[in-house]
Amino acid sequence: MFQINENYQKLPGSYLFSAIAKKVAAYSEKNPDKPLIRLGIGDVTQPIAPAIIEAMHKAVDEMGQAETFHGYAPDLGYAFLRKAIVENDYKARGCEISEDEIFVSDGAKSDSANIQEIFAVENKIAVCDPVYPVYVDSNVMAGRTGVYDPDTERWSDVIYMPCTAENNFAPEFPKAAPDLIYLCLPNNPTGTTLTKAQLQEWVDYANKTGAVILYDGAYEAYISEEDVAHSIYECKGAQTCAIELKSFSKNAGFTGVRLGYAVVPKALQCNGVSLHDMWARRHGTKFNGAPYIVQRAGEAVYSPEGKEQIKKQVAYYMKNASAIKQGLKENGYTVFGGVNAPYIWLKTPEGMTSWEFFDFLLERANVVGTPGSGFGPSGEGYFRLTAFGSYENTLAALERIAKL
Ligand SMILES: *Cc1c(COP(=O)(O)O)cnc(C)c1O
Repeated sequence: MFQINENYQKLPGSYLFSAIAKKVAAYSEKNPDKPLIRLGIGDVTQPIAPAIIEAMHKAVDEMGQAETFHGYAPDLGYAFLRKAIVENDYKARGCEISEDEIFVSDGAKSDSANIQEIFAVENKIAVCDPVYPVYVDSNVMAGRTGVYDPDTERWSDVIYMPCTAENNFAPEFPKAAPDLIYLCLPNNPTGTTLTKAQLQEWVDYANKTGAVILYDGAYEAYISEEDVAHSIYECKGAQTCAIELKSFSKNAGFTGVRLGYAVVPKALQCNGVSLHDMWARRHGTKFNGAPYIVQRAGEAVYSPEGKEQIKKQVAYYMKNASAIKQGLKENGYTVFGGVNAPYIWLKTPEGMTSWEFFDFLLERANVVGTPGSGFGPSGEGYFRLTAFGSYENTLAALERIAKL
């Protein structure tokens, strides 16, 4: 008789977004006359920019001709894309990353879930609380997290780094030394980030303690402040302690197109074993590449027209973000984030729990957001609104909130 991977049985049920969907569906059914505004989604809404669509059309046509047809892509991704990535995301920022340190993938979710498998099961992970659930759940599946306590909502073998208004959403160095440290900056869900100087401290800490930082930079395009690093490799010494994961989902609207990349520097070693070689081996065995058409689309993200067009999209979302931030402040809310990320993290009023505020906002303003407690126990008493809606809907939601 076969046995299952028992680790999957340890995963706590009721995924946050399905719980929200159920509540929203129930409300809509009872109140069909009340149109809802959804500011809870973590998905983009603007269409793919014209320069990128054009590149995709061209690549589609190439696939229909024997002379220009493309089959399996090279293991690490096409050179044209890795070159564009290195030139624009690294060289232009003074980071010495080479093309063969880039691994093109189908997105940062899979990379952030898969990267843990090149590390020992005994390794201890540290995550921010609140956190993007993928980091923890992928380690649960691998059997790295110990026992779950439903009362504290914590795993016995995971180090949690609370990020709240009290510490300005800057995680503190854990007392017990972790082996793998997940950092998502700018952050989903809090919308906050660290300064370059603060990030440098994490790099120094990792190098000193022999830890690896798994750095999720999915929201890098939203950075507006000068003293914030666009890549962890802007920090001295990051090449010996950090893996960077990037995505085309939030900067160029590729959530349905699927493209990302991982940077594993050759200098990142463990007792003489190169993590770069391990990831190359893993990639070669378990992944057969992002589609040619999609990699051409990724290349167009870095063309002059592409850059110009996606800059406008990011600016559109960030205009929503500042409108939400400003509007909520004017109505007496305490708000965070929204400056270097498309997320607003607000303190729930009058001591409401995150879910109480969710119900309050749904029923009284017909606005849907995301309860902070869904991202971890330290998210309790907070609430996330996203800037990914339309400007009109964003303003309409704020008007409703102002009337509460
Ligand atoms: C949206 C998001 C990603 C991007 O995932 P893709 O698989 O590239 O679409 C990665 N990390 C975080 C924290 C995100 O919110």
